[in-house]
Amino acid sequence: RFSRTFRDNPSLGKMLIVFTVSGGGLVAYSEAKADGGIHAVNPSEVDVKKKRVVVLGTGWAGTSFLKNLSNSSYDVQVISPRNFFAFTPLLPSVTCGTVEPRSIVEPIRNIVRKKNVDVHYWEAECFNIDAANKKVYCRSHLGGDVNSKEEIIVDYDYLVISVGARSNTFNIPGVAENCHFLKEIEDAQKIRRTIVDCFERASLPNLSDEERKKILHFVVVGGGPTGVEFAAELHDYVTEDLVKLYPKAKEAVKITLLEATDHILNMFDKRITAFAEEKFQRDGINLKTGAMVVNISDKEITTKEVKNGGAVSTMPYGMVVWSTGIGTRPVIMDFMKHIGQGNRRVLATDEWLRVEGCDSIYALGDCATINQRKVMEDIWAIFRKADKDNSGTLTVKEFQEVLSDICERYPQVGLYLKSRQMKSLVDLLKDSSGDAVKESIEVNLEEFKLALSQVDSQMKNLPATAQVAAQQGSYLADCFNRMEKCENNPEGPLRFRGEGRHRFRPFRYKHLGQFAPLGGEQTAAQLPGDWVSIGRSSQWLWYSVYASKLVSWRTRALVISDWGRRFIFGRDSSGI
Ligand code: FAD
Repeated sequence: RFSRTFRDNPSLGKMLIVFTVSGGGLVAYSEAKADGGIHAVNPSEVDVKKKRVVVLGTGWAGTSFLKNLSNSSYDVQVISPRNFFAFTPLLPSVTCGTVEPRSIVEPIRNIVRKKNVDVHYWEAECFNIDAANKKVYCRSHLGGDVNSKEEIIVDYDYLVISVGARSNTFNIPGVAENCHFLKEIEDAQKIRRTIVDCFERASLPNLSDEERKKILHFVVVGGGPTGVEFAAELHDYVTEDLVKLYPKAKEAVKITLLEATDHILNMFDKRITAFAEEKFQRDGINLKTGAMVVNISDKEITTKEVKNGGAVSTMPYGMVVWSTGIGTRPVIMDFMKHIGQGNRRVLATDEWLRVEGCDSIYALGDCATINQRKVMEDIWAIFRKADKDNSGTLTVKEFQEVLSDICERYPQVGLYLKSRQMKSLVDLLKDSSGDAVKESIEVNLEEFKLALSQVDSQMKNLPATAQVAAQQGSYLADCFNRMEKCENNPEGPLRFRGEGRHRFRPFRYKHLGQFAPLGGEQTAAQLPGDWVSIGRSSQWLWYSVYASKLVSWRTRALVISDWGRRFIFGRDSSGI
């Protein structure tokens, strides 16, 4: 608003705009130039007593961090273009009106309001991270000016990057222009409107059967949990609600699910995959696996078969939903180039979620991953160091000591080494008779290095899920809550004392299981210990888990009443 005033009145000349925060300190100020644009010119002066923590993003990771931060010695600034938290697991339900969009969002100001910590929220988007000078550059698009040049510069002592990811189009021609994505609340609302529009268009007079079929052909690209859940939800919406209102559409409507690999729900147990594929077949959902999308025009999708000599075929469509995975946000790509991670897909962190090669910057959620290769190199260095006489061997006793040290420092890898009972590792620890471990036996480190490289290739990155993001957020908040105490007492807890050790335990992910809703009140659940349950009972488990995980009592009450409304009255078909 200020900048526009100056732009319209150049005679006002050069003036300063000051952004203040409560507590009296200046955070950042920008200078209005006579040419109209506002250019950031100077760093800030801030309340020196409090450390400034800047959090980028109000998604799962950022919100979990904010909810769990309880130490009042920080001055926290939250920057995100979205002033609310969205419960993404229920987004597919929003696309078909099972749940209303408002029911799954909570204003971020509501979430941080009760805290004893100073938290300030700014609705803006970060476009540049200057790690060398500890500043982030942001732009606000409020007022609808997407070309706004108003910049906000924010200084930080600690930066928490949790900006998530964007939908990945793999640069396939036509995807960005012609597909719907399912990532944000607005995407789900747009899909809901488009579904109803398609049914209305197909009901207009003077349409041929062929045109009607084309309009009512809904294509979902991507057989992961989101694509599968959306296809299932759409099938329920059509069969339970829409065909009652559009009886002529019954014969023409078709749902196709395209997947490039041989099966859908690859990350789930094979029993779940098989059940889902059979159910979709029974429901009449056209499942096309091994089909890679190569082009999407405004009327047709072109696919190429992965096998069978790469046969190419086209199909007309009315609506396409693209759900094939996630890609890196531009601000993160630029940042990675600056810090020498340009060849990576996501930001690499260590096991304490600190961005590699940066000072006081943490990254969590979908925009980051723990660098397993680096962890392996560190572990190897620990083994080498334990080999004091440089003989290339360790006794089993020494070896086991190092291993328990690793389990403490690198729990993810340590547990893997222990629990998987890797054949090569076990072989190394056995004597020639094949069972009892003898302390005098020597372990050849070169052989062990080979075993480690196997772990490296077998240990997968943590999945890009809300579960990981939320656990990382609360882990980091816990570290921040104890940071001051640890700085005053740098020795740290006894177990973590010692050269090169960090004062906090590394992040350890606890997998609580995952769901795949398959429609018709049936859900597949894969719980810890590879316990699989499929059917109506899992659907009730799904209802209870998601109701309990909702961020507030308000959203919980709204979602439960939406579910009740759907049971009694069906889904709304107005598309608004
Ligand atoms: P997000 O939650 O995406 O948050 C990113 C935040 O950063 C947003 O607030 C965004 O506005 C903000 N931001 C973006 N750019 C900038 C910028 N330049 N500057 C500042 N802020 C910025 N996971 C599960 O575990 N279970 C499920 O059932 C499940 N279902 C899903 C269903 C759907 C439809 C989708 C899309 C995802 C689902 N996920 C699920 C995955 C889960 O939502 C993500 O893994 C999770 O959101 C990642 O959290 P995050 O905080 O890293 O990113």
